[in-house]
Amino acid sequence: MTQDNPPPQERLCRACQRRYAYPVRKSLATRFHCEACMALSPNVRKTFETFNKRIKALSAAVDKLEKELTTRRKTGGAVT
Ligand SMILES: [Zn+2]
Repeated sequence: MTQDNPPPQERLCRACQRRYAYPVRKSLATRFHCEACMALSPNVRKTFETFNKRIKALSAAVDKLEKELTTRRKTGGAVT
C-alpha cells in the first residue's frame, strides 16, 4: 500500500449537529457538513446553521438560569 489514507475523524455537522466520520471515500460529507446536509441546498443548510447558533445560545442561557435556580433553592431563597 503506497496510498496514504488518513483515518476518518469524527466530526460534528454544523447544520444538524450530527456526528459523522470524515473523510469517507465516496461520501459527500465535507469538513463542516455531513452527507445528509450536503444534499440540501446551500440556503437550507445556512438556515440550519443559523438556527443551531441560536439554539446553542439559548441552551447556554437556560443552563445558566437553571444553575442560578439551583443555587437559590439550596440557599433557601424564594423561587416562584
Ligand atoms: Zn448534517
